[in-house]
Amino acid sequence: MIVDLRSDTVTKPTPAMHAAMMHAEVGDDVFGEDPSVTKLEGKCASLLGMDSAVFCPSGTMTNQIGIKILTTPYDEVICYKGAHIYKYEGGGLAGNSLVSVRLLNGDRGRISVDEIEPNINNTQDAHQPITSVVALENTVVREAGSFYTLDQIKKISQFARSKGLRMHLDGARLFNALTETKDKAEEYGKYFDTISICLSKGLGAPVGSVLVCKKEFESKARRMRKALGGGMRQAGFLAAAGIYALDNHIGRLKEDHARAAELGKALSKISWIRSVMPVDTNIVIFSVADSITPEQVLSKLAEQQIKAIKFGDKEIRLVTHLDFDDSMLEKTLAEFKKLSL
Ligand SMILES: *Cc1c(COP(=O)(O)O)cnc(C)c1O
Repeated sequence: MIVDLRSDTVTKPTPAMHAAMMHAEVGDDVFGEDPSVTKLEGKCASLLGMDSAVFCPSGTMTNQIGIKILTTPYDEVICYKGAHIYKYEGGGLAGNSLVSVRLLNGDRGRISVDEIEPNINNTQDAHQPITSVVALENTVVREAGSFYTLDQIKKISQFARSKGLRMHLDGARLFNALTETKDKAEEYGKYFDTISICLSKGLGAPVGSVLVCKKEFESKARRMRKALGGGMRQAGFLAAAGIYALDNHIGRLKEDHARAAELGKALSKISWIRSVMPVDTNIVIFSVADSITPEQVLSKLAEQQIKAIKFGDKEIRLVTHLDFDDSMLEKTLAEFKKLSL
């Protein structure tokens, strides 16, 4: 039994998802003629209470398009210092949008009005880039899946808009956040101009992300998708997987959270583990004692067919998902207990 905890992107389509894909009605989506893509986009827009949606190959692309269409070159984007858009998108903000980034410390990745306010530049001063976007991430991957509540988001959004700023959400794992907060997905649309959601993470689709946006940004988003090479033809096979995932895999995310919580609890009792970040959703990040390295731990785990990744100098990350079941949890817990370093 191979246990792959490197990411929630490693899942394979279930037989039922596979069947939905094989039977998808398709057409050329660059001509706007793929009924499955159109259906997925409509579903995502209404799910989040927004007007429009654009299906893309990856979450990186949806984030990059979101920032691109909300900014003008030389602007500045405010975000958490460990944000995916800044840290894990290959410098895309610099290359695609020609913007600078103002990085905030946040409280486990969650930034607040108090922190944002003093970081908005003075538009009258030509020395300073024009602050134009506040970008949030929910859940925050760098901080072990910590999440914002809708109430916290509402405060930030109202403040940002009062300052003329636009709002982007990297909601790669938004449904993991909603599983915990019980906030309504359709409320989210009110507080953002663009929202990126990943179908290929916890929802278990093989490929795909969706940029949900206001109507006024849709044609710009489609143009940028084309420019970045993300216009796909008979993409309905992939969209069908996304539709299936939205219909069938949101309700089960709580199982991933429960297994992650069990892992976190067990790891915190192991002597060679220095600390475990609070486990709020489906991500467990722990750091190892001074005397050992993450590489040593990862190679011992690999001998037992357990895969995880290094996530910092001293840190290791485990992510639970659709293809990580109770028997795999038992095996993982047992192997961690046996592991001597
Ligand atoms: C995975 C992820 C993305 C997008 O990743 P892709 O691999 O490009 O689909 C964006 N934001 C966060 C927080 C993520 O975890």
